[in-house]
Amino acid sequence: MDNHSPAIFVGDTLGLDFLNSVATPADVPIDWVDDGEGLLAWLEQARLVPPETLAAIREQALPGELDKVADQARSLREWFRTFVFAHKGQPLTAEALSDLEPLNRLLERDEGFSRIVVDKPGESGKFSFQPMRKWRSPEALLLPIGEALGRFVCTEDFSDVKACEGHGCTLLFVDHTRGHRRRWCSMAMCGNRAKQAAHRHRLKQS
Ligand SMILES: [Zn+2]
Repeated sequence: MDNHSPAIFVGDTLGLDFLNSVATPADVPIDWVDDGEGLLAWLEQARLVPPETLAAIREQALPGELDKVADQARSLREWFRTFVFAHKGQPLTAEALSDLEPLNRLLERDEGFSRIVVDKPGESGKFSFQPMRKWRSPEALLLPIGEALGRFVCTEDFSDVKACEGHGCTLLFVDHTRGHRRRWCSMAMCGNRAKQAAHRHRLKQS
């Protein structure tokens, strides 16, 4: 498994999926955004940027430019991880806003606009108002990430933000289950491992 394998989307919110873009699903840590191409692939899998926009940005980028944007994306990710770890497990308070200043600075750079589009081409009369964004430079790739982080902060209850209890697992998720009993990133990865360990433990005891 390497960063060409599919990225992990178990966070139940893109804001945490971005933090989960570095993880250790088996024995070796994998960073899906460790270079420019990795960043483009992750953004495509997260559906944060349309594939044709990614192709155009790849074509127009100067040598090394996308790698630099990936560096920035990783800095943003690790800064945001610190924020999440400082606040998870309880509701966000108004004081947390000052910690979010760097994210607000990023969001200020956005060049969003809306355009009127036909809902279903071929059918008449149904329009919708579609949010768009100008992609003036490869750095603009950070903007949809910033938006996902901002939406996560504004829409999720930080009381439900949890780290997987799996041994050595770094994955984060929002627990949207009804009883708030989710403990694992996924049953396939950590849940089954924990079940097997508990089973072995019981066998040893009996
Ligand atoms: Zn896990």
